[in-house]
Amino acid sequence: MPEKDVRTRFAPSPTGFLHVGGIRTAVFAWLVARQNKGKFILRLEDTDKKREVEGSGQHIMDSLKALGLEWNEGPDIGGPHTPYLQSERLESYKAWAQKLIDAGRAYADPYTAEEVQSFREEAQRNKQPFLYRNHRPDKTLTWDGSQPLRFKSAPKPYKWHDAIMGDLSTGPEVIDDFILIKSDGYPTYNFAHIIDDLEMEITHVIRGQEFIASVPNYLNLHEALDISPPIMATAPHVLGPDGKKKLSKRDGAKDVLDYVRDGFLPDALVNFIVSLGWNDGTEQEVFTREELIQKFSLDRVQKSGAHFDERRLAWMNGAHIRALPLEELYKKVSGFWPEEASGHSDEHKIQVLGLVQERLKYFAELSELTRFFFIDLPVDLLLVRDNKQLGKLETRELNILLEQAKVTLEQSNFTVQDLTDRLNQLLEQTSQKPGILFSLIRIATTQAPASPALAETLALLGKETSLRRLGQMLESLAS
Ligand code: GLU
Repeated sequence: MPEKDVRTRFAPSPTGFLHVGGIRTAVFAWLVARQNKGKFILRLEDTDKKREVEGSGQHIMDSLKALGLEWNEGPDIGGPHTPYLQSERLESYKAWAQKLIDAGRAYADPYTAEEVQSFREEAQRNKQPFLYRNHRPDKTLTWDGSQPLRFKSAPKPYKWHDAIMGDLSTGPEVIDDFILIKSDGYPTYNFAHIIDDLEMEITHVIRGQEFIASVPNYLNLHEALDISPPIMATAPHVLGPDGKKKLSKRDGAKDVLDYVRDGFLPDALVNFIVSLGWNDGTEQEVFTREELIQKFSLDRVQKSGAHFDERRLAWMNGAHIRALPLEELYKKVSGFWPEEASGHSDEHKIQVLGLVQERLKYFAELSELTRFFFIDLPVDLLLVRDNKQLGKLETRELNILLEQAKVTLEQSNFTVQDLTDRLNQLLEQTSQKPGILFSLIRIATTQAPASPALAETLALLGKETSLRRLGQMLESLAS
């Protein structure tokens, strides 16, 4: 028999924006679908009406698209199992619930919330875990939809295999009569996702750690429905930078769209998100999307929490930026130039970009890193005073060095080679360290705390601009 076509899904609840931790299971599911030439399905789990945040369904879709995680079936594009919005699938949950009722495996919960609370407290007093099934009503009420509908579980031990966590087992004490349909008519996640995953023919359920404790109950429900469970893979939490708590928005984990807006590359974001817990067993850290599709595997996802480190993301993005051909990078950064660059030719801007490509970590830095190529920034003597090495020199010494630099630059034809040679001669002539001489010339000609290689920078600024700025610096030192 041919194996079933792989179908994975991402099933977020529209309760807010997606931070990079929350979108990781989507990336895993997308990769598994792509590497098996299968289908990736998007389903919105909007049955908790109290927690729903307006617009977040759209926001989630925009985030997935921005990362290039296109889905084959979903609420916006439909598909063979339409609808893909749980709130529009209520009939389906009712029909399956009825089958359970008919089989004697579901019953109306007759208790008020206060009564259930008192059972809970009683269990606490007796230092017993609370199990609803210890309070199953003797008589069954006909379910009219105004009470919660509960699953009548059949407690037993379970052993199962999780594609990430490995072999797992639990005893019968974790099995309980959970709610299938709430009194507001909406199904619980616990029930709805099982019906949807079945009807949508999902082969791999890849989700976060918060659901693992409920898996035995899901297995019990599968048996009651006489259906077989999909492959399950539980991704450990993404932890905050301290490596202790689960990553939250408070840890600075931003909305995926914010990163895209700041000029993080979708490929780098996907690479970073996958690397939260996965590696290919070698030292390689930077992967193209194609490489990830080939190499990713659930069984190499680590079982313990991975931590989120934004600096690592910036480093990784820088690596992806360096790997881009200059012309391609140029097209991508079009919205990020400083205002002063407008009116400058593409050719000039490409040269500037070529010089900063090496150190650019994300596009939003471009403006800051390149402004001095387009305008004279005001002289800022603090750049000298606050510099560890230059700060020790007296104004008189700074003046002498700058005057010598001026003579050297006046003689140069401003090719990179000529500038390199002459600057090296000047280094010998003044017996200075590059950290002093070159930093001083760099600051004088850019008025920026950091700049690319000196000879290249000067060559691109040109002779006139470089000498004018040296002159401005000398004037400031004199006053
Ligand atoms: N709606 C659930 C959530 O957003 C989905 C869990 C799952 O992937 O099954 O947490």
